[in-house]
Amino acid sequence: MSRRQIYAHFDRHSQQARQMRARDLEAVERTVHSESAEEIDLGYRQVRLAAVRFPIFDEAGRITALCTQATELGRPGLQATAPSAADAMGRADEGVMITDARGVILTVNAAFTRITGYSLQDVAGKLPSILQSGLHSQEFYERLWLSLAEHGRWQGEIQNRRKSGEIFPEWLTIYAVKGADGEVQSYIAIFGDSSARQCVEFMTMHDGLTGLPNRKLLMERLSDCIADARRRRDSLAVMLIDLDNFKDINDSLGHDVGDLLLQQVAERLRRCLCDAHTLARAGGDEFAVIVRSLTIDEIRRLAAHTLDYLSGSFCIRGHELSGAASIGISLFPEDGDTATGLLQNADTALYEAKAQGRNRFRFFAAEMQALVQQRMTLEAGLRAAIDNDRFEVVYQPQTALAGGELVGAEALLRWKDPVLGDVPAARFIPAAVEAGLIVTLSEQVLAKVLSRIALWRRQGLMPPRISINVAAQQLREPHFVEHVCELLETRGVPPAAICLELTEGSLMEDLEGASQMLSRLTEHGIAISIDDFGTGYSSLAYLGRLPIHELKVDQSFVRGIAGEANKRSIITAIIDMAHALGMQVLAEGIETEDQLAFLKDQHCEMGQGYLFHRPLSAEAFERLFVPCGGPPPRASAPAARVVS
Ligand code: C2E
Ligand code: MG
Ligand code: MG
Repeated sequence: MSRRQIYAHFDRHSQQARQMRARDLEAVERTVHSESAEEIDLGYRQVRLAAVRFPIFDEAGRITALCTQATELGRPGLQATAPSAADAMGRADEGVMITDARGVILTVNAAFTRITGYSLQDVAGKLPSILQSGLHSQEFYERLWLSLAEHGRWQGEIQNRRKSGEIFPEWLTIYAVKGADGEVQSYIAIFGDSSARQCVEFMTMHDGLTGLPNRKLLMERLSDCIADARRRRDSLAVMLIDLDNFKDINDSLGHDVGDLLLQQVAERLRRCLCDAHTLARAGGDEFAVIVRSLTIDEIRRLAAHTLDYLSGSFCIRGHELSGAASIGISLFPEDGDTATGLLQNADTALYEAKAQGRNRFRFFAAEMQALVQQRMTLEAGLRAAIDNDRFEVVYQPQTALAGGELVGAEALLRWKDPVLGDVPAARFIPAAVEAGLIVTLSEQVLAKVLSRIALWRRQGLMPPRISINVAAQQLREPHFVEHVCELLETRGVPPAAICLELTEGSLMEDLEGASQMLSRLTEHGIAISIDDFGTGYSSLAYLGRLPIHELKVDQSFVRGIAGEANKRSIITAIIDMAHALGMQVLAEGIETEDQLAFLKDQHCEMGQGYLFHRPLSAEAFERLFVPCGGPPPRASAPAARVVS
């Protein structure tokens, strides 16, 4: 190094020292923190520093020391986990608090003072617990510190208390800033006020009903969390939670009750998730949870726990309502690396959980996409079929087992779609339930059947009693009984001409309500049958309390007559029980002579099945009617046109 170079070197250093000194004095004089970006020449290396200076006060508010914290910019490992103090302080809109490694507050910025009401003098030297609202459990804070120790960072929503005593929600991120030795040197907490100056913003980003982040904020936070998880190579999952029966509750009990239910569900979810994860209302009755740093097993347990937590009933305005839900889960990065992708795939998994019977959770799997596509096509086809009246009702005769005469028929729906072809009822009925179309569809069936009965009667034909399937969702319609009675009346059909088939499950959803409704239907002279009996709750206790005329033994039992002794025993028990309660029994799905012989032996009154007839078109069915004055048609009468 030449003499000139040596002079220049010292000159630069003294210049740097002077600049530093000036900045120190400025911080002391202004009694607030100051920030600066500085470059230091170490001779062998240029170092860029972000420095924050903050005065330390004693109890009397006098400055006793000046603390300078300098963070080297652009150094790998440090920048990756924490922003520089200067960066943090620079976020004018966000409150910033810096503590030492023990958590003692060293400095805060102007936004902190604006949001919390505490000045630097108020909080310097104190612990952040000064802001605690008392609304979070000890466990919450323990988890926060654990996350900081393990991951160097914690992020979440927290309720804090202002100097005025007012509690306010804030979205808080805490970083642990480590030195070269890996030891924590300080903590930087950055938070946005969600309730004061940013009130308008809060409202646009939060759901007015539940106070939870709305979809917009959810997307923002999810994007942040994805970026963070990518940086830290951490796990991340999205759970979409959707209530199973919300639409029915809303439709039958009104939107006020629906709103109250959503609020209570949100509250229960908040408690269940214990602040550990971000909860948002994704829209309607759908909630989303951003789940961070959990293993697959832990996510599985969390989902099961959430379902459990929600499944307990909610008491709202005297109604016992179910909060049962389904959950779809997608994982980062396997199932998507964008907020939209993750949410879409969680939605696909949710759709699958619903399709598989609800009240369950499903992880996204690539194969689901094709299934969901199929279901969406089916749903679109269903809507078009309803609009264009593409459904036909067929009639499956019901036969007296002892004498073989025709005693009734079950009206069954058939859908032949120009694009999808013949779609079985077992496929499209659940799809109609899922799509919220079952009530409309069932109303069409009811109207069609009653119009057909009226036509037969006008033609002087005497149709036997026609059984019509009623979906659980119809029962929840507040004016279901009036609607049926009105249709009967306008078409001039006597109530005794029909029987309504309900499943056990649909009655059990609201036993009290169902009991009242059934009483009113029977008072009007409409017979009630319990369909698929034996597959649901099969509770003797409720059967005795309801006005039921007939039990339909499910075909799975009939199918088991040949080889399964326990199925035979169940059939015998059902028949005995029904008779003891004054009900008749009809066995479904009789296909063989052996099944018929067994059922007759057990004194089962009626049967329905391919052994007698397949479901028939209305025209084919009417040929079986008792001709005026003629002998009753036998079960062996040839079916004119097989429809099923
Ligand atoms: P379900 O009410 O138990 O109807 C009996 C089902 O068993 C019918 O199937 C019928 O075709 C079939 N079946 C009758 N005899 C036999 C037999 O001997 N062997 C076999 N293997 N099957 C037999 P379908 O028509 O496919 O209907 C399936 C389900 O769809 C019905 O079960 C019912 O729950 C629902 N469904 C059909 N039509 C309607 C409707 O109009 N409204 C509502 N809400 N549900 C309907
Ligand atoms: Mg049925
Ligand atoms: Mg059935």
